[in-house]
Amino acid sequence: MDDSKTPPQKSHGRKTIRATFKPRELMEQSPDLARVWKAQVITLMPEAFPGILGQSLTGRALKDGLWQIETVALRQFGEGKHRNVDDTPAGGGAGMVLRPDIMAAAIDHARPRAAPGSPLIYLSPRGRPFTQDMAKSLAAGPGVSLICGRFEGLDQRVIDHYRIIEVSLGDFVLTGGEIAAQALIDATVRLLPGVLGNDASTEEESFSDGLLEHPQYTRPAEWRGMAIPPVLMSGHHGEIAKWRKEQSRSLTRERRPDLWATLEAKDDQKD
Ligand code: SAH
Repeated sequence: MDDSKTPPQKSHGRKTIRATFKPRELMEQSPDLARVWKAQVITLMPEAFPGILGQSLTGRALKDGLWQIETVALRQFGEGKHRNVDDTPAGGGAGMVLRPDIMAAAIDHARPRAAPGSPLIYLSPRGRPFTQDMAKSLAAGPGVSLICGRFEGLDQRVIDHYRIIEVSLGDFVLTGGEIAAQALIDATVRLLPGVLGNDASTEEESFSDGLLEHPQYTRPAEWRGMAIPPVLMSGHHGEIAKWRKEQSRSLTRERRPDLWATLEAKDDQKD
């Protein structure tokens, strides 16, 4: 991109780059709301939160106190003048590994402040794949503590010592756990009572019954020569429900043989 043609960016005045970290400032958080679902995030990038979670439905719910978020800046537990948090991998190889003693200090600081009974999760490509069922069970609990990795990730001993549950967003590698943490929080928070509003249903969407959702349409009734399937315009609720179910089933069978196999196994058990 040719920078000379872009107008100078407006300064929003609030973000300043600090040469040194002042732990006090990094620890400043919104007041703890008792019994409100709480996400706690241990990260090298606390300024990345709430990020997208501060927008739209999750953002409004955050403002309204339907959920809360607390970041714990890993850097403040770092060692020496540069607050180092990582070191080279034992046995050699590329990259850096987050030190267990530094991460342990962050966890020991964070956990007493977490909602009692909330699980401790490390976002990691080696983890159990995150699912809608996990989002549901997290939403039914008091909250979650999340650890965002960076570089090559965490020292294994800290994972073992704290019996940290590893959860993956999918079979791909991100540069850090922050985006994964935001995705997990988003999927969970939208299931909390009141977040989506009264008329929104999470019962009928993808995965809620082990199926992908049927196709959706809206006005105009005809677009580029394509009409909305007539059944959806018929006003016949029974027929509409039947059509949607059939669409869901054939989409799932076609695109997600893994989900389909799980469904068939369940059906077999019922018989
Ligand atoms: N060397 C590691 C990858 C490190 S990626 C490995 O091969 O397994 C750096 C960090 O990004 C990880 O510590 C983790 O917190 C995060 N991350 C990367 N991919 C992820 C995924 N698919 N799901 C969740 N977190 C992920």
